[in-house]
Amino acid sequence: MKKIMIMGNWKMNLIADEVDELLSGLKSYPVKAGILAGAAPSYTWLLKGQEQFAETNWQLAAQNVYVKEKGAYTGEVSAPMLKSLGCNYTLVGHSERRQIFQETEEAIREKIAILLAHEIKPILCLGETEEERNSGRAEEVVARQLREGLAALPKGTKLFPIAYEPVWAIGTGKHCDPQTAADMMVFIRQELAQAQQQFDLSELLLLYGGSVNGKNFQGYLETDQIDGALVGGASLKAEDFIAIIKVAEDFLHE
Ligand code: PEP
Repeated sequence: MKKIMIMGNWKMNLIADEVDELLSGLKSYPVKAGILAGAAPSYTWLLKGQEQFAETNWQLAAQNVYVKEKGAYTGEVSAPMLKSLGCNYTLVGHSERRQIFQETEEAIREKIAILLAHEIKPILCLGETEEERNSGRAEEVVARQLREGLAALPKGTKLFPIAYEPVWAIGTGKHCDPQTAADMMVFIRQELAQAQQQFDLSELLLLYGGSVNGKNFQGYLETDQIDGALVGGASLKAEDFIAIIKVAEDFLHE
């Protein structure tokens, strides 16, 4: 049975005491069967995450990774380091990294490759800008990001979560209307089904990201095209994040 994933992207937020409070709030909520709930703290807090989430069903994710195994790359963090901290997922290609840090498609491909080599599941993020949507190019942009991001993967690769995050909906409070997001998921599934590499889609999860909260999440699940959410702002308070998880639990048990 497919699961519903709710992953929190904390971005560059929270200092030590706030992290302790948030992690203990999350940890005190038992994640139920059918739900994959997790958090992607800054690198600085991954060890705390590992300690707090030990012996729980909470998943730990990183927000980034460097493309080399080890060596003279001051300031960077490797996939083996993430693995040793108990990370089972890592975000790749978030629009903030593409836009602010000029992350290229080549870097995204390399990050996916090194993560898979260390048995960490990438969560590949894609999505169009407002200008691209308004000029009718949303599908073209998403198809290109998908094709380029996955281009180096061998035939039959088992795909990992992919998050459709329209850039104009991230952190703006202007969430994408569920039907529009669902249409893009249908499009992404079609593109993947037609890919030359004949991917294994058995564990594919398509997440929506962009101003998700406990009030609007149900609408996405009801489309039956969306397998979960990548959540920014509403992941920074345990009660807000747990409210989203509860929506998923209710949906599963309806
Ligand atoms: C994100 O950054 O991935 C995100 C979806 O943020 P927010 O929920 O704040 O829009």
